[in-house]
Amino acid sequence: MDVVTNLKEINQKIDTACKKSNRHLEDITIIGVTKYVTIERTREAIQAGITHLGENRDDEFLRKYEQLNNDVINWHFIGSLQSRKVRDVVNNVTAIHSLDRISLAKEINKRATGIVDCFVQVNVSGEEAKHGLNPENVLSFVEEIGKYEKVRVVGLMTMAPHTEDENMLRAVFQNLAGLRDKLKEKRFPHAPAEFLSMGMSNDYKIAIEEGATHIRIGSELVGPYKK
Ligand SMILES: *Cc1c(COP(=O)(O)O)cnc(C)c1O
Repeated sequence: MDVVTNLKEINQKIDTACKKSNRHLEDITIIGVTKYVTIERTREAIQAGITHLGENRDDEFLRKYEQLNNDVINWHFIGSLQSRKVRDVVNNVTAIHSLDRISLAKEINKRATGIVDCFVQVNVSGEEAKHGLNPENVLSFVEEIGKYEKVRVVGLMTMAPHTEDENMLRAVFQNLAGLRDKLKEKRFPHAPAEFLSMGMSNDYKIAIEEGATHIRIGSELVGPYKK
């Protein structure tokens, strides 16, 4: 399918989910995840109207960053980020969605030329293979990174398990939203925590109903994946 057609269908589903949950379309940012597709396919997404793009590897991010017109693109780094790669991405992205350790905050702080918007990644489902903080540790973690003045925590991010079990997905998203609310109550100056980055191709409708502000859609938008 061409991206225009895919996006039309996605927008309809987003619209339905917003209506169902009394939310506004303007409050949802679609991040087109282009990690497995070519520059050409990525251009197609941009032409279809996608202005936020997500990549999960620094080398692929840099390749696309260098070849595409960045005046129209807001880049999001959504994958696990090695400390030694921070300098390659930190000053070229709108947000990093995978802040999951103090050493990474420290490195971002060291390499950044200005304030960097970050989402703290939380492993809500507790799956071993997943990156992210244990939910119990999020508040103290965010408090601790207050000392890194260039790191701003704009929200929380999670990846839900691969399952068709809607109740389980809903519970994961509700947990993240509850945690974000608690964090917001703390009123840390460095952590406005307005946003929730949650929802992928399989589960973004549920994520929106549970409060997602940033949905990260790959396969349904630009798939089937081809390198
Ligand atoms: C690949 C990826 C996505 C998009 O996944 P799809 O299921 O293809 O929509 C979203 N978030 C992260 C962190 C990813 O790595």
